[in-house]
Amino acid sequence: MKGIDNTDICAYGVINKNSNTLLHSSSGGVVPELCSKILKEGGSVCTCIYNYDFHELRHALIKDVSQLGKMESSKYFQSDITEIFSITEEYLKGNKNKKLLFIGTPCQCAAIKSYFNTKHVSGENLICVDIICHGVGSNQIWNDFTEDIEKKNNDKIVKISFKDKRYGWLMPYAVAQSKSGKEYDLCDYMTLYNKNLIMRDECYECPFSSVEREGDITVGDFWNVKKAVPSFYNEKGVSSVLCNTEKGKALFLSVIEKFYTVLVSTEDCIQPNMMHPTEKNPLSDKFWIEYQNKGFRYVRKKYASKTMADRIKRHLFVKIGLWKV
Ligand SMILES: Cc1cc2nc3c(=O)[nH]c(=O)nc-3n(C[C@H](O)[C@H](O)[C@H](O)COP(=O)(O)OP(=O)(O)OC[C@H]3O[C@@H](n4cnc5c(N)ncnc54)[C@H](O)[C@@H]3O)c2cc1C
Ligand code: SF4
Repeated sequence: MKGIDNTDICAYGVINKNSNTLLHSSSGGVVPELCSKILKEGGSVCTCIYNYDFHELRHALIKDVSQLGKMESSKYFQSDITEIFSITEEYLKGNKNKKLLFIGTPCQCAAIKSYFNTKHVSGENLICVDIICHGVGSNQIWNDFTEDIEKKNNDKIVKISFKDKRYGWLMPYAVAQSKSGKEYDLCDYMTLYNKNLIMRDECYECPFSSVEREGDITVGDFWNVKKAVPSFYNEKGVSSVLCNTEKGKALFLSVIEKFYTVLVSTEDCIQPNMMHPTEKNPLSDKFWIEYQNKGFRYVRKKYASKTMADRIKRHLFVKIGLWKV
């Protein structure tokens, strides 16, 4: 592990040149290109896939470029990685010359590396990409949320996007598309998430909220771009990329022609969740007690519904270009 003051780390602002890929990614569209490169070389990718039948998120092994669409974009609840330990172990043991790209939260990267260490599996062909992580929300609340939409509307969600960029990257819109062609907004879920009411308890004490990274590459939103390199701002998204190891740097440089890039300082990329864990909302315990006693709809209405003041504030912030998650 390396600290941010390590001069071997190189940092970039990054925008995917392909406007379609950029539009469908959460930030600057870095991850899809890293994945494509590994898959085209005959390796495999391990990242999370959303299951629309059960509204669950699970890490899985992807071996074909055609499956990449299944993993796009950020989901703000926890992906289950329990099955992936033995699957990736078998893969690395059975495919000595093939690379495995693992993408996940820093705690997931740490877990997979620790598992391989314990099992004495060589990590030579493993490349980890960690995402800068604000925390994962409650899967239980997410299940209640999607169930509520589907039951109330007698409809089926077929696509979700937590960071739809129709209003721009700085104003992500959380939306679900249904079988009947309707759209349902997921903003109440994101309000609970952004208010830090529904994170997993571990996230409020996250030991990985640090400049010392678990990944060979760290990716995140380059929120600081307007200050650090104003001319590089793009309304459809800009990523920050930290190449923390030689292995990570080699992979990123092998696809660099897919991107517009600018070299930045590592300090330009530092964010709150690289310095300290997300602070728990003082109302979080009360939220959960009321959830147990009065149910999901009650807490949703009480803690997530927008007041008229919220709506006016958002409208004004959008107008003057200050809106940000
Ligand atoms: C829960 C969460 C919190 C985040 N918090 C921050 C933050 O505070 N600051 C910041 O700069 N960036 C944050 N990000 C990262 C950012 O939103 C982008 O995911 C990242 O910049 C990569 O974007 P991309 O455009 O390169 O790729 P994308 O195409 O958006 O690819 C995203 C990748 O992340 C994987 N992924 C999505 N959801 C999860 C999940 N729940 N668990 C594990 N892997 C997942 C996908 O499978 C895919 O491989 C967060 C992401 C998540 C999932
Ligand atoms: S905040 Fe920390 S513990 Fe929570 S998901 Fe992210 S890396 Fe894991």
